[in-house]
Amino acid sequence: MKTTVASLEGARTGHFIDGEFVAPNSREYALSYDPTTAQPWYEFAQGNAADVDAAVRSARAALKNPAWRRMTQTERGKLVRKLGELVLANADELAMIECRDNGKLLKEMRAQMRAIRDSYLYFGGMADKLQGDTIPVNKLDMLNFNLREPIGVVGMIIPWNSPLMMLTGTLAPCLAIGNTVVVKPSEHATASTLALAELAIEAGIPPGVFNVVTGDGANTGDALTRHPGIAKFVFTGSTFTGRKIAGNAAQNLAPCQMELGGKSPHVVFSDVEVERAVNGVVSGIFAAAGQTCVAGSRCFVERPVYDQFVEALVERTKRVRVGHPMHDDTDIGPLALAAQLAKVTDYVGSGIEEGAKVAAGGKRPDSPELAKGWYFEPTVMINATNQMRFMREEIFGPVVGVVPFDTEEELMSLANDTEYGLASGIWTRDIDRAMRFARDIEAGTVWINTYRSAAYMSSNGGTKHSGYGRRGGFEVMREFSKIKNVVLDYSGAMQDPFVIRLR
Ligand code: NDP
Repeated sequence: MKTTVASLEGARTGHFIDGEFVAPNSREYALSYDPTTAQPWYEFAQGNAADVDAAVRSARAALKNPAWRRMTQTERGKLVRKLGELVLANADELAMIECRDNGKLLKEMRAQMRAIRDSYLYFGGMADKLQGDTIPVNKLDMLNFNLREPIGVVGMIIPWNSPLMMLTGTLAPCLAIGNTVVVKPSEHATASTLALAELAIEAGIPPGVFNVVTGDGANTGDALTRHPGIAKFVFTGSTFTGRKIAGNAAQNLAPCQMELGGKSPHVVFSDVEVERAVNGVVSGIFAAAGQTCVAGSRCFVERPVYDQFVEALVERTKRVRVGHPMHDDTDIGPLALAAQLAKVTDYVGSGIEEGAKVAAGGKRPDSPELAKGWYFEPTVMINATNQMRFMREEIFGPVVGVVPFDTEEELMSLANDTEYGLASGIWTRDIDRAMRFARDIEAGTVWINTYRSAAYMSSNGGTKHSGYGRRGGFEVMREFSKIKNVVLDYSGAMQDPFVIRLR
């Protein structure tokens, strides 16, 4: 793998098309910034429509290439598993690249690389488990069966917060099925996807199967979503951008799989051990500095335990260590972008204006070593209501609003009063109540006495404006393959077409 932290420093990267790095048609490059210093550290190619077209052509040619098309499912599965092993072999370097690009904790990125390896093993293992079926039609001597085939070229647009993790959830199954892909990573965290594309070649995946076009969303991303050669889109990002992409894709009748934003409710009942629930709420909102789609940003607490819970939450929040993402004793690093810092600051201000009160955090840290980076303290807002802007819109930062409730009915109406429906969490010892919540909550995932325990073996995704389509588990293998129905008559005779027999 040529793409390393050392090789990137001060360098220029290209697109990765047909198995090699190529310079952009425009000869234009843009800067990638280190969030701990707000300084640029490498330049990436700015893709235009011609670059996108070259990548799609390469992916379309690879679909027809016998080296991929005629490969057995078992062999393809082996290559996908090999890619996973190469991710593990290069885990430290990949983790460091992502950490430099998006400011997430090095220890978390390292752990993610292990999970990513496991994901390639899991989906590689499924390559030869994907099978069609036979249909018992009402005719003798006739075999009617469904084949499962690759969809074609899949276009993938991924965000900056966990690029390889987000990519792997659909890339691994897409490759296992025999699709080819064109990926556009976020302009804010580009390099790890390029490194992965290199590893795919090392794993023996033919050139052109996995192409990467870099650049910004408004130009490169837009060009990709307008390209008629894409059979299906995968998008992870904001609801705002998701709408645009679905609109463009619809012009070419290309379906999409959308993983969008969230404003997930995290509920605490008074029958739980407060300390445990506090830990759950803290990890649900502050992990990755709140830059996770499933962040539990609206916390509803049953009135009898509200004061005790808030006191414990504030105390625990003040102990969260904000620091450099590469240090082992850091709990949360900086926000990934200057724009994120401005956005989080604005939402906290708007909450205060609407009557909420900052009980912990609410500002950039005082420490001089952190002054240059895009850091923000983990923040607890009380006196909040579900109607305030910071409680309705996705912040994507370390800010939680806490609201008391009295009855289960009131709770359900508050929890579901959001345009989003990605995740939810509940802390209670009452299993009947937990199951009522799981039944009635409008969310793609329900965590009971836990939070953020995602697994690639289970199907995840959103409802309402949090998106559609599912990732994980066997479901995703069906989403990225298509059915071809085949009918075989082995009677040896063809009936007179104009004689209609009534049964
Ligand atoms: P955006 O929606 O702006 O960006 C996501 C991706 O879309 C990036 O690669 C971006 O490119 C690209 N993009 C932006 N505009 C366009 C366009 N017009 N056409 C095509 N592609 C485009 O989100 P953010 O970068 O702000 O990421 C954070 C958001 O992503 C949060 O709101 C969060 O909820 C959501 N998200 C959802 C997840 C989920 O699983 N549901 C997971 C992670 C994040 P570029 O960055 O280069 O501009």
